[in-house]
Amino acid sequence: MPVTRRGFMSLSLGLAAAGPFRPFQAWAAPLPRDADIVVIGAGAAGIAAARRIAAAGRKVVVIEATGQIGGRCQTDSATFDRPFDRGAWWMYNPDSHPLVKLARGAGMDIASASQGQKIRIGRRNARAGEAEDFLATLVRANRAIDDAARRSDIACAAVLPKDLGDWGGATEFLLGPASTGKDLKDLSVGDQFRAQHRDAAAAPRQGLGTLIAKLGEGLPVALSTPATRVVWSNRDASVETSAGTITARAVIVTASTNVLTSGKIKFAPELPKRQLDAAAKLSLGSYDHIALDLPGNPLGLSRDDVLMEQSRDNRTAMLYANIGGSSLCMLDVGGSFGHDLAGQGETAMVAFATEWLVKLFGSDIAGIVKRSSVTRWDTAPYVMGAMSAAAPGGQAGRRVLMEPSGALFLAGEATHETLWGTVGGAWESGERAADAALNRIGGIRGAEPAKPERPARRSRAKSDALPRAPGLAWPRT
Ligand SMILES: Cc1cc2nc3c(=O)[nH]c(=O)nc-3n(C[C@H](O)[C@H](O)[C@H](O)COP(=O)(O)OP(=O)(O)OC[C@H]3O[C@@H](n4cnc5c(N)ncnc54)[C@H](O)[C@@H]3O)c2cc1C
Repeated sequence: MPVTRRGFMSLSLGLAAAGPFRPFQAWAAPLPRDADIVVIGAGAAGIAAARRIAAAGRKVVVIEATGQIGGRCQTDSATFDRPFDRGAWWMYNPDSHPLVKLARGAGMDIASASQGQKIRIGRRNARAGEAEDFLATLVRANRAIDDAARRSDIACAAVLPKDLGDWGGATEFLLGPASTGKDLKDLSVGDQFRAQHRDAAAAPRQGLGTLIAKLGEGLPVALSTPATRVVWSNRDASVETSAGTITARAVIVTASTNVLTSGKIKFAPELPKRQLDAAAKLSLGSYDHIALDLPGNPLGLSRDDVLMEQSRDNRTAMLYANIGGSSLCMLDVGGSFGHDLAGQGETAMVAFATEWLVKLFGSDIAGIVKRSSVTRWDTAPYVMGAMSAAAPGGQAGRRVLMEPSGALFLAGEATHETLWGTVGGAWESGERAADAALNRIGGIRGAEPAKPERPARRSRAKSDALPRAPGLAWPRT
């Protein structure tokens, strides 16, 4: 759950005790031979696209490489006494977030983020004046990034004021690894400038992964079925998988930018070079959770406190303490440091977390970790990182990724211009791609198909305007 470059002082967690978790039932019918539209990936973007297509009465099949729905939204309800979201957790800007209403409709409880931040300077909390200094430093750094973005798309590190003093390390951590998973030298000022503010946040108590899985219930999702090759043209497409080939009139690919550039999915013909180049400049940063069960509140923090330190170097973390009033605490690491640490494995990650807490709270807390669990998203074979953040000069690539190529459409968080890196952005991108693909094949069932040679355009239709499918589209025969 990355914080945002403007948002540290306005966020915290408001998650309470675990609600019931209904695991997704893998759907086990043989793969069909054809569909109107195939969606590759059952993360937020893929589920959003599939729901939209099914609601239009069209036959959709979702192909998912892993054994679960959710992609980067996965809730672990077994390890701790409360759900632990291994990937995304927060819905930013809940007033306009597409999932909040759906979560309520699905009977989930939404908890708003509470307010409670602390900054540690060694073993003590920062005094009010020191916290003010830090805030002023952040404002200056943000302003420098915004000013530079109006001129050219260069690296955030290049425009940071040189006199950030004692708060330089914390500022760089907060604006870089903690917000985007990348160091400031690897981040485009343009991407930061265009990002929609993500200050307010809310989360489903049962977990965001639980929500996405719930929203995928009833959809025709083929789990544990990697797509290996997509053959596309201006007329139609086919998707080759480990379980057979499906032909379709359009295909939507929601795999992450790192998966796209890895060559794990072959395309025939190749993806347009400008899209591959764009994806390379929109690669994923590194961001991971180190979850610790710390019974008895040994840190003496309040429920849902968020804490960072006045760091001297990049070996630092963001702490989310006593989540929802439980003993679950989470240290988040990111950027080049987080990437290297996660590369060393779980033992090294937990050791770093313990060492960091001892540094800030004293040796009494050593040995007090009851249970732990870590994520290592860079090594997840079908994600290969955390969230897309543009490299210097890469911001314009987001629009390039959105361009349709014949019957082939790309979606996923990286294809959202302002909500990149978020579940909300992924969801909206899936709906946008579904509208474009539906438009291409004639929209709702029974409508005249668009001419194949005409490039697909983004439809202005809202999902509410689409007829509800009488049960989901498939299997039908
Ligand atoms: C640790 C962490 C914390 C985060 N915190 C937040 C947060 O608090 N709030 C927020 O809004 N965002 C957060 N994010 C970002 C958010 O998780 C992502 O932006 C979003 O979930 C991406 O959804 P997606 O559908 O675009 O991609 P994905 O979730 O990656 O979905 C793509 C799917 O495609 C599948 N796939 C890939 N290749 C193939 C193939 N060959 N065949 C079939 N299937 C394939 C993958 O398995 C995956 O399921 C966080 C991310 C991480 C890693």
